[in-house]
Amino acid sequence: MNRVEPADLEYLRSFLPSKRVLVGADINPEYAHDELGRIKGVPDVLVRAQSKEEVSKILSYANRRLIPVVTRGAGTGLVGGAVAVKGGIMLETTLMNRITELDEENMTVTVEPGVLLMDLAKYVGERGYMYPPDPGETSATIGGNISTNAGGMRAVKYGVTRDYVLSVTAVLPTGEIETFGSKVVKNSSGYSIKDLIIGSEGTLAVIVSATLRIVPSPKENLSLLAPFPTFQTAVSAVPELIRSGTDPTAVEFLTREVISLAEDYLGKSFPRIQGDAALLLTYDGFSAQDVSERADMASELCIGRGAYDVYIVDTEERKESVWSARRVFLEAIKASTTEFDECDVVVPRSKIVGFAKYIGELSERIGIRIPYFGHAGDGNMHVYFCRDGLEEDAWERKLQEGFDFLYSKAAELGGMVSGEHGIGFAKREYLAGSLGSNQMELMRRIKKAFDPKGILNPHKIVT
Ligand SMILES: Cc1cc2nc3c(=O)[nH]c(=O)nc-3n(C[C@H](O)[C@H](O)[C@H](O)COP(=O)(O)OP(=O)(O)OC[C@H]3O[C@@H](n4cnc5c(N)ncnc54)[C@H](O)[C@@H]3O)c2cc1C
Repeated sequence: MNRVEPADLEYLRSFLPSKRVLVGADINPEYAHDELGRIKGVPDVLVRAQSKEEVSKILSYANRRLIPVVTRGAGTGLVGGAVAVKGGIMLETTLMNRITELDEENMTVTVEPGVLLMDLAKYVGERGYMYPPDPGETSATIGGNISTNAGGMRAVKYGVTRDYVLSVTAVLPTGEIETFGSKVVKNSSGYSIKDLIIGSEGTLAVIVSATLRIVPSPKENLSLLAPFPTFQTAVSAVPELIRSGTDPTAVEFLTREVISLAEDYLGKSFPRIQGDAALLLTYDGFSAQDVSERADMASELCIGRGAYDVYIVDTEERKESVWSARRVFLEAIKASTTEFDECDVVVPRSKIVGFAKYIGELSERIGIRIPYFGHAGDGNMHVYFCRDGLEEDAWERKLQEGFDFLYSKAAELGGMVSGEHGIGFAKREYLAGSLGSNQMELMRRIKKAFDPKGILNPHKIVT
């Protein structure tokens, strides 16, 4: 792979204004990392693209010149995916931020990749629709969400980003612009290349447009907060809740430890609850009666499984205190320590309790603080290793040791390396360890079929 030379900058500036081709001190230091912070790398040049034609020209040139290209959305990723670890061109998409079509007959919306999730949610919401995927970081781009197959709390009822992407238009390293998929509702037409691009973290192609499925916006929403004596009793109620037919939109678990961190971070109290853990459930639908009947059934079920009580999160004050705390869990953990690294494994729902018990034992054994929170409804655990006062050497050693144990435990329980944040640079070795050499070789061959010269986001997912 080559670094960017002055002649390359000259070429880029021949069709892009200088203010969109930035080098050296003109590149904000934020572009040297993502929200994980630990993986670092400064691009040789930051190019802010405004159209698919520009993306095409940049890629075909980089492919000829063998220059790495790292696509970047909002940089909110947590695995170092959008970091230029070996320099090269960073191709930023946030100026490609137009919503180009709302098709109400087919219930689709077509967007450029730099549209922010919050802007899309607002746009469709104002027109009576909902785009169901709801990752916690709403300043992420839709291109980033598609590239990581982002999930969110509503995954229990509505699924994840992949379930809402009907087609993607992407630029291949040679500069060809291709559309994969279409607005059709069903499709059995050969291999789904669209589904390979979803979740590929910028390693196969650059997404320049996507057509997404939307649904009518539910008219009614209700949240329930159910405190339980222990984490185990709380999470053990979940399989029955899912089986009950009450159809929850979200089922989150909250631990006393993480609630306290959120209280410290916000300087505000969470509603006073008994016990060490709680479930936060949401229900939505089109009639108040239907939603409240399903919520009542869920409340009875929780009480029957040992909940102290079930509170309806209905007043504005209560909604604010519960949801503001839930939304800042990650930032609160980050603010509580000097440095962190995270693990976003997903295990079968029935294994959450066993996995959490293991985290507790591991924390004691290696002497490191490991708070966690997660989606009880889908088994996705967000586990944070906190450096606190550890010296660099001890921190790196304990982190490596802890991750090795944790990922092998997740695999033993039938889990996968990432539920929603992806692999990027940070989790490559764990992906390889978990999938084994045959599957990794298949992935390498897929990468080669799209990107034979290996210019797209090198050193990410596969090496
Ligand atoms: C506080 C917080 C909460 C979060 N909560 C969630 C959550 O609930 N669920 C969840 O899934 N994630 C969550 N995340 C992680 C992050 O927001 C997601 O991974 C998000 O999808 C990244 O989008 P982005 O625009 O920031 O992408 P970036 O970080 O810029 O990029 C992510 C990856 O996508 C690639 N990429 C970006 N755009 C394109 C494109 N147009 N074409 C090809 N490749 C591209 C990049 O190369 C990189 O590999 C959270 C992060 C934070 C900081």
